[in-house]
Amino acid sequence: MIIKVYAHLSPEDMFEAGVRHGLSQEAADFFRCFEEVELELEVDSDNGLVLTCSSLTLSGKEKEVVDYTKKKYGVWQGDKEGKPFNPANCAQETSKNWIYFQCPNEPGHGKDGMFCEEHAERHPE
Ligand SMILES: [Zn+2]
Repeated sequence: MIIKVYAHLSPEDMFEAGVRHGLSQEAADFFRCFEEVELELEVDSDNGLVLTCSSLTLSGKEKEVVDYTKKKYGVWQGDKEGKPFNPANCAQETSKNWIYFQCPNEPGHGKDGMFCEEHAERHPE
């Protein structure tokens, strides 16, 4: 049985999933350019296990430069406005248990000094 799996993910999800699956930081960063992934999976009809992944289509826009000062954090269906950027914190949006928020760490590293030490790796100067 062939099924198609289609997922719309945030660039951060793509990045984190890439890292979790053992990609190098650089390779995972590449995935952040994409927002959509389509997988064609061959699934065992008896037990639902994935046998093969025959195609992978990535789509999305070219990575754009994000203006973090205008970014809204934690936007979801239940909070379409989200929270505005707080310059006292690292500009990275991060998540825990699927809740998104602005990283609470102290900035001063990475691009324009807007990131904490941990997230500066993703945003070199
Ligand atoms: Zn941070």
